[in-house]
Amino acid sequence: MLGNCCGRDLMVDTPHSIYLHIPFCRIKCTYCAFNTYIGLDNLIEPFVAALCREIEILGASKPGQPARTIYLGGGTPSVLTPHQIGCILAAVERAFVLAPDAEISMEVNPGDPDLSYMMALKSLGVNRISIGMQSANGNELELFARRHDNDAVVRSVVAARQAGFDNLNLDLIYGFPHQTLDSWENTLRQMLWLEPEHVSLYALGLEDGTAMKTWVTRGYLPPPDDDLSADMYELASDVLESAGYEQYEISNWARPGYACRHNLQYWRNLPYPGLGPGAHGYAGGVRYSTILSPHKYIQALETTEAVFAFPLTPATDQSVRVDREAEIADTLLMGLRLTQEGISRAVFRERFGADVLDLYQALIEKYRSYGLLEVDEDRVRLTRKGRFLSNLIFRELV
Ligand code: SF4
Repeated sequence: MLGNCCGRDLMVDTPHSIYLHIPFCRIKCTYCAFNTYIGLDNLIEPFVAALCREIEILGASKPGQPARTIYLGGGTPSVLTPHQIGCILAAVERAFVLAPDAEISMEVNPGDPDLSYMMALKSLGVNRISIGMQSANGNELELFARRHDNDAVVRSVVAARQAGFDNLNLDLIYGFPHQTLDSWENTLRQMLWLEPEHVSLYALGLEDGTAMKTWVTRGYLPPPDDDLSADMYELASDVLESAGYEQYEISNWARPGYACRHNLQYWRNLPYPGLGPGAHGYAGGVRYSTILSPHKYIQALETTEAVFAFPLTPATDQSVRVDREAEIADTLLMGLRLTQEGISRAVFRERFGADVLDLYQALIEKYRSYGLLEVDEDRVRLTRKGRFLSNLIFRELV
């Protein structure tokens, strides 16, 4: 904790952002390395009970903690019924002091939620829907083994709008085998036609254990082309900017006022308790992860009577206390992802009692001289060129 070394203790008085991991999917997408499972629908009901128990234990270990966002991610949270979602949200409201204007986001699979499902979510207080569109092109969705087509995305957006949602995100993927600039542009145009408030673009990473990586390794698919991927990123940046979206993070664009408050919490390196199997969290000066297996997760929460110190719960698998040096490095690493906000020198000084320029003088000067960072009295942030080459800086910081 930095409370006794300098500055204001942000880990104590900053409201939390609560991440809830729902580890069930109907199908395993070929690129996906998230902690998700198919064919375990029989565990959904006991999982919901276990998650509510974990939330209750976390809240009881430090009552009265404020929270300002909730994010239901996964996995596919839309495999849960509205009743199950309602039970989980009610557990959070009992365990934390939820801000009246809290952002409550939920990921949905295109085509799953019909109008009545969307209306039920709205009545439960969900106010932001994130739809995994990924691509508008049928052959690319087949390559991913996604179980939706572009029509399903359209239906989900229409249902969400009819239910009254005015804050929609669409996720897209780029830089995968056989994708072309033309097909990417088609996806971007289709996405714009749907007029989401927020867009997240993910460059494909070939993750261990995925079918996509196996196919590339065995030569069944060509490896991703980094130069083409960079061209796609540039095209998307231009298209989104022309359409009035503001880039606020390396991979995220939003209409003014619609930046994702939950994700801003991560990038500002502020506390986000993570609950559910395989969740990651950071709170109370501790970074931790939870048990991966849904079976073991449920068992861990069935059998315990022990008392845990916030933010640990019976589901915690690994944890490490973050010292001041690591907290500073994390704050810089994540804050530089924020393309407009960057690192506020005043906020950094208040938190750590030192100017970021004094702590990272050589590194900042080097990348400023390369034209990748800009520095003024208020902040340090990436230049436009720096957004394309940010990995150079991040690698040095890790
Ligand atoms: S739906 Fe999402 S979480 Fe589930 S396998 Fe596909 S990419 Fe992974």
